[in-house]
Amino acid sequence: MREIAIVGGGPAGALCGERLASSGFQVSIFDEHLAWEKPCGGGLTHKALVAYPFLLDGPHPKKLIRACELISSGGRRAMLRLDHPIAIYSRAVLNGLLLDRATAAGCRVEQSRVTQVDTSLARIRLTAAGREHSADFVVLAAGARNPLLPGTTPLKAADLEQTMGYFVPRTAESITIKFLPKFEGYLWSFPRSDHLSVGICGRLSSGATLVMKNHLHRFMEEENISTSGARFYSHVLPSPSPDTLRRRKVMGANWALVGDAAAWVDPLTGEGLHYALRSGHLLADSLAEGCPSEYPARVRSEFAADFEIGVRIARRLFAGNFLGDAVTTRMIQFIRRSPTFCALMRDLFSGSQDYRGLKRRLWSSLGLTCSEILASFLSAGVPVGPSNASETLR
Ligand SMILES: Cc1cc2nc3c(=O)[nH]c(=O)nc-3n(C[C@H](O)[C@H](O)[C@H](O)COP(=O)(O)OP(=O)(O)OC[C@H]3O[C@@H](n4cnc5c(N)ncnc54)[C@H](O)[C@@H]3O)c2cc1C
Repeated sequence: MREIAIVGGGPAGALCGERLASSGFQVSIFDEHLAWEKPCGGGLTHKALVAYPFLLDGPHPKKLIRACELISSGGRRAMLRLDHPIAIYSRAVLNGLLLDRATAAGCRVEQSRVTQVDTSLARIRLTAAGREHSADFVVLAAGARNPLLPGTTPLKAADLEQTMGYFVPRTAESITIKFLPKFEGYLWSFPRSDHLSVGICGRLSSGATLVMKNHLHRFMEEENISTSGARFYSHVLPSPSPDTLRRRKVMGANWALVGDAAAWVDPLTGEGLHYALRSGHLLADSLAEGCPSEYPARVRSEFAADFEIGVRIARRLFAGNFLGDAVTTRMIQFIRRSPTFCALMRDLFSGSQDYRGLKRRLWSSLGLTCSEILASFLSAGVPVGPSNASETLR
């Protein structure tokens, strides 16, 4: 197996191509847009920056953010100060830099739309811009809307979320995230180097689009973010069900899915960039080591099994109640009043706390968290003031 075709030059396809070309494969990447402003927040968490330091140290424009303001559905606010920054990229910049690295490693990068992929013969054949190409193996990295699925099922509505938002010509210094009552999803504002990506994500269902648009516009009004000069976007975001995570086929003898095409997106946060890069990387290593069939197991052991727990947590977080109020509202109150809880949320945010260990950590720190919350209430309702959390009540 020497020749690899990659459909899609986003983070998953570009990084996979770079690593394969560096290992001596002949790689062709086909992307209909190349470096484009894909609808996205563009946020790369600490774990992604540790795995791929060039994303932090490189010269490309990005915004480093060290604070995240969380807002409950009732308007309560808590500012979470992060130990490690989140890097926020424009996707045109991020895709461009990853494709440049792939080209420098030896990939042939072609701007064209792939319309057909045939994996029924020993050598795969694909049609791009009306021309036929062949290769030994095809990597399908064409994103969540990918219709090119040899030998596997498409993502179901239950595996997808709707997103919509605006690129707004203005900047800010912190991320804002707002929760809504009984709503599986959230609103966000992510500052980039020269604009904001403001948006909302939520479950795909009939009538959801209008409801989400109303929520989005109300949020922007409340946060004084004008739509004047802003560009609207909408896209789908994978949010895989446990069944899809466990059972959906992601590879065959001469093809594999990576990134959003495989639905590798954190079901709670919607973080997909890290997992796009990691899945592209794990597939490339499996191919280079001559053991392609190990790819699904490697993905499962690194993050997909953890996502299954994440799905259950997401449902309880967004729709559940705790002590008579929404879980998200309690979470914001606890961040404000307990340094121990605040540290846990910070680690979840940066990716250093996985879902597998979350329950254990919550239980083991329960006593301390409760005593901090109690102490905070007893000190006349003034937050005990973890150095990295503060709250303003509206
Ligand atoms: C609104 C929104 C906000 C998000 N915010 C964040 C965030 O802040 N942080 C985060 O980590 N994740 C975020 N995500 C998720 C993240 O955008 C994705 O997980 C990530 O882009 C997946 O990368 P990928 O390479 O798999 O797919 P994509 O980035 O979608 O790349 C697919 C590529 O394939 C190309 N393509 C598609 N079809 C064809 C074809 N037929 N022929 C040729 N080329 C084709 C496209 O042009 C595209 O370049 C967000 C997603 C959305 C929708």
